Amino acid sequence: MGKGFFNVPIAINEPVKSYAPGSPEREAVLEAYKDMWNTKIDVPLYINGKDVSTGNTKTMSAPHDHQHVVGTYHLAEKSNIEDAIATALEARKTWSQLPWEHRAGIFLKAAELIAGPYRAKINAATMIAQSKTVHQAEIDASCELIDFLRFNVQFMTDIYHEQPESSSEAWNRLEYRPLEGFTYAVTPFNFTAIAANLPACMAMMGNVVVWKPSDSQIFSAKIIMDVFKEAGVPDGVINVVFGDPAMITDTVMESPDFSGLHFTGSTFIFKELWKKIGNNIHSYKTYPRIVGETGGKDFIIAHKSANPIQVATAISRGAFEFQGQKCSAASRAYVPSNLWDTVKERVIKDVTSFKMGSPEDFNNFITAVIHEGSFDKLAKYIDGAKNDADAEIIVGGNYDKSKGYFIEPTIIVTSNPKYTTMCTELFGPVMTIYVYDENHYSETLQLIDETSEYALTGAVLSTDRYAIDEATKALQNCAGNFYINDKPTGAVVGQQPFGGARASGTNDKAGSALNLLRWVSPRMIKETFVTPTNYRYPFLG
Ligand code: NAD
Repeated sequence: MGKGFFNVPIAINEPVKSYAPGSPEREAVLEAYKDMWNTKIDVPLYINGKDVSTGNTKTMSAPHDHQHVVGTYHLAEKSNIEDAIATALEARKTWSQLPWEHRAGIFLKAAELIAGPYRAKINAATMIAQSKTVHQAEIDASCELIDFLRFNVQFMTDIYHEQPESSSEAWNRLEYRPLEGFTYAVTPFNFTAIAANLPACMAMMGNVVVWKPSDSQIFSAKIIMDVFKEAGVPDGVINVVFGDPAMITDTVMESPDFSGLHFTGSTFIFKELWKKIGNNIHSYKTYPRIVGETGGKDFIIAHKSANPIQVATAISRGAFEFQGQKCSAASRAYVPSNLWDTVKERVIKDVTSFKMGSPEDFNNFITAVIHEGSFDKLAKYIDGAKNDADAEIIVGGNYDKSKGYFIEPTIIVTSNPKYTTMCTELFGPVMTIYVYDENHYSETLQLIDETSEYALTGAVLSTDRYAIDEATKALQNCAGNFYINDKPTGAVVGQQPFGGARASGTNDKAGSALNLLRWVSPRMIKETFVTPTNYRYPFLG
């Protein structure tokens, strides 16, 4: 604490800009897009505030036009990772001692830089290299990231205000120390906001960080680092490295000073990282904190009382925005037999009306999936559904990777509630629907609970309060974020803290104080005013 109990600005959610024809934001983002599309960038590692070029490079391209190279990035050697760790530990000496208001000032400034001068650039980068439509880029790279930064500053001070009782004899103070050592952020491709938030929130709490972004998100990661640098994050506090994830992770986790993993990505990788930490546990100076938000197989259940048009809309929006590549995207739906004909007609109408192509064309609702690996996996499951007797594709089912990795939004209807695409996370624009007997609602709720290892998001649609209550209870452990009469996507920072349990993660709720608490190690300080001078208690006579 400095010399005052400072209040921080009250956090408010950043308003989403419309990008309607003729709006200034539309013009600005298109101009930034064209500029960035036509200029190749070179992205070095960023260690101790310096650009580090290793000369060993890979190219970055746009998923919707994979032959178009937008730049290169440098791959780290083991020695670069060792440098990043050493430099972070050195920076910790001053960063961990800096009064919190300076940390708050830096990240509040970063939020305003994104809201203003960097908005078009960070959105355009996300459109180009992650193939988001302008709306999806705006709600992620701008609004959600700004919200994370603003709300986390507020949550940080809420945490600091949490203090124990004291008495006239002794004053009890809780000091929220950063973790001893350095932390490690490993981030996914699908949200620019998550990529920035994972290292930023740990640094905000006074920690130093080695950050490894996804290979498919480096283009926008570069803008994030430019923002952090301009906002005043000191050298060595956040170090960014790219390259072989296994080598980087092994080097990080071999260090006795490793003190925390902040991961978002797939379940299998997270479990592997947890295992590595376990294998090294005897060598660490402190027990590392492990936070991981992972995969999902998110559901929609409609009750027979639901409005079928609302059900169809929840499916169209919940399953296909950003090509289904949201961890929260609906990918299995349970529709009662009495509503099926209307729901089917409407979803087919909706999905066939989606336009697919480059995000530069604002008529497109769907663009490409992230890379060839994802494209091939999705194509394999679609082919499987074409051949399997218990599955039928009612809309979509085509794919084409000649120019970009385009998968048509696809709906599979299955007669087998445990069909492979009802259970497995595909992470693409493929929704599977099981039509259940409208009189078997309770059994269907149980089926949802037993079908998948995941428990991230889910939604119930109904106009019957008893049915809503039954689903809320029966599905208590099936989703960390549960929606009533809505789609299961679109969590907003400060409003719906996000995270799931079971194989979906440690449920530490990004965008809330619960997450920030994982990055501090409280020290209790008791100060006694009149110190005793005689060991004998009164009962001793
Ligand atoms: P991914 O698991 O492929 O990659 C995530 C990160 O792990 C990347 O930085 C990647 O380079 C790294 N990685 C890959 N192999 C590694 C290894 N052997 N050792 C160390 N690091 C390694 O995930 P992705 O494709 O980038 O993202 C999609 C996944 O993330 C989906 O499963 C999705 O559900 C999940 N996700 C979850 C949430 C959530 O909040 N629960 C949010 C976003 C994404």
